[in-house]
Amino acid sequence: KSRLILVLGDQLSTDISSLRMADKERDVVIMAEVLAEATYVPHHPQKIALVLAAMRKFALSLREDGWTVAYSKLNDEANTGSIPGELVRHASEFGADEVIATIPGEWRLIAALNELPLVVRQLPDDRFVTSPKEFADWAEGRKELRMEWFYRQVRRKTGLLMEGDAPAGGKWNYDSQNRKPAPNDPRPPVSPEFQPDAIVAEVLELVEDHFVENFGELHPFVFATDRKQALVVLDHFISQALPRFGDYQDAMVSGEPWLWHAVISPYLNIGLLQPMEVCQRAEEAWRAGTAPLNAVEGFIRQIIGWREYVRGIYFLEGPEYTSRNALDHSRPLPAFFWGGETHMRCVREVVGQTRDHAYAHHIQRLMVTGNFALLAGLDPAAVHEWYLSVFVDAFEWVEAPNTIGMSQYADGGVVASKPYVSSGNYISKMSDYCTGCRYDVKAKTGAQACPFNLLYWHFIERNRDRFEHNPRMAVIYRNWDKRDEGQRKVVMEDAEDWLGRLDAGETV
Ligand code: FAD
Ligand code: SF4
Repeated sequence: KSRLILVLGDQLSTDISSLRMADKERDVVIMAEVLAEATYVPHHPQKIALVLAAMRKFALSLREDGWTVAYSKLNDEANTGSIPGELVRHASEFGADEVIATIPGEWRLIAALNELPLVVRQLPDDRFVTSPKEFADWAEGRKELRMEWFYRQVRRKTGLLMEGDAPAGGKWNYDSQNRKPAPNDPRPPVSPEFQPDAIVAEVLELVEDHFVENFGELHPFVFATDRKQALVVLDHFISQALPRFGDYQDAMVSGEPWLWHAVISPYLNIGLLQPMEVCQRAEEAWRAGTAPLNAVEGFIRQIIGWREYVRGIYFLEGPEYTSRNALDHSRPLPAFFWGGETHMRCVREVVGQTRDHAYAHHIQRLMVTGNFALLAGLDPAAVHEWYLSVFVDAFEWVEAPNTIGMSQYADGGVVASKPYVSSGNYISKMSDYCTGCRYDVKAKTGAQACPFNLLYWHFIERNRDRFEHNPRMAVIYRNWDKRDEGQRKVVMEDAEDWLGRLDAGETV
C-alpha cells in the first residue's frame, strides 16, 4: 500500500524527516496550495507568492528526482481547500491509509493532523540545531529563560566560534560594538533581485486574482524562490554585507529597507537554506579574515541563539501562548498599521516599507511598530495577527514568541526580562526618521511632543505596580519621580489627550 508523504509550504528541504522516511517507489508526496492556509490571516501578497512559487518549484525538482507528487494548485476544481481535506481526498484516490508528516510549525496544524481519520505519524522537524526536547530540558527548573545562557550551550554543542572550551576572541557576545547609527551617506550593497521566471509569473497572476485586496504591494516581486537562488542571496550577504552587519545592525534609514541585513529569514523559514550551513559560511568568513568577529558572532547568535530559542519557547509554552495578555491591553490596531495616515514619520516609514517589500528589519519591528503598540496598549492578539500577516518570513513558531513575548510583554516576562519600550530619543539616535517629522522628538509635552515621549511615561506610570520593583527598571521610576508633580501631571494629561484623539480616529 502506498503512504501519503505530506510536505508543507514551509518544509521545502530535500532532507526533511518525512521524505527521509519515505519510499520513492511506493509512496506519494502530497503538496497542496489551500485556501485555508492562504486566508487564516490576510497574508501580504508577496508572502503568498513566495510560498506558492517555491512550492511549485520544489515539487518539480522532486518529480525530476523520481518522486510521485500529487500537487494541488489553489484553483484546481477538486481542491478541497484545506490540508486535512486534501489528505483525505488523496488517501481515497491512492488507496492509502497512512500519512507521514514532519511536524508543522504551528499548533493549529498539528491538531488538525491529529484529528484526521487516517493513521498519521508526525516526525520531528530536525532542520533545527536544537530540538524542543533539548530546550525543555534546558528550561527545566530555571527561574528565568534567558536567551544568552541557552545560546552559550548551543555554541558549545555546535563548536561554532569556539576555541576549545572558550569562545573565540575571549567573549561570548560582542553586542556592545553593534549599536552604531548608520553613517550619513550609508550606501549599503545592492541586494540580488530575481526577475520572475515562468513559474513565478504564473503564481503572481494567481495572487493578483485572489489576494490583491490584502495589505501589501505584489510588485516588484524579487525574492528568491528556489534553493539555487537562495544560495545567491547567502553568497551576496557573506561577501558584501556581513562585514558591516554588526556595526549597523540596529540602524534605521529612510528609503533603505535592507541596509546590511541578510534578508535570509524567508528562505531559512521555508527550508531553502539550513541554519548550520548559514552559520558555517559566516564563521569561514571570519576565519578567512573577510568579516570581523563582532559581525560574525552577532549574526550567528541571531540564528543559533534567538531563532532556536524562540522555537523552544513556542513549543514549551503551548497552544494558548498566542492569546496571552499579561498587561490587559485592548486598544484596537489603528488604521495606520494598514497604511492609513499618520504624522509619525517613523511609523509611516516602517509600515510603508512593509507594504512595499513585506520586510522590516529587527529594530524596525521591535522599536518602532512594536514599541508603539506596547506603549499605546494595543491588543496583543491583534498585534500578533498583524505581524503574522505582513512579513514575508512570518510563521507562527517564530513570529509569536517575538511578538507576544519579546515585543509586547504579553507573556508576562517569559521572553523579555523587561518590556522593550523607549521614548522618541532612541528612534532619533538610531535613525533619520525624526528629521522631517511633524512631531518634535525633543518636545516632552504640548501639541508638538513626540507621541513616543508622551506614551513612554504613560506606560511607565500606568504599569507602576508591575515594574517599579523590577531591578532593571527601578532607576526609570526614580528619575520619573524626581520630576515635579505638576510636570508629571501635564505629561499624563497630554498622553491621555493624544490617545483620545487616536481612539476618535483622528489622524495623529
Ligand atoms: P538579519 O538581521 O540579517 O538576521 C539574520 C537571521 O537571524 C535572520 O534571518 C533570522 O533567521 C535570525 N533572527 C534574527 N533575529 C531573530 C529573532 N528575534 N527571532 C528569530 N530569528 C531571528 N523573524 C522571522 O523569521 N519571522 C517572523 O515572523 C518574525 N517576527 C518578528 C516579530 C517581531 C515583533 C520582532 C521584534 C521580530 C521578529 N522576527 C521574525 C525576528 C527578526 O526581526 C527577523 O528574523 C529578521 O528581521 C529577518 O531579517 P534578516 O534575514 O535580514 O535578518
Ligand atoms: Fe517618530 Fe517621534 Fe521621531 Fe516623529 S519625532 S519620527 S514620532 S520618534
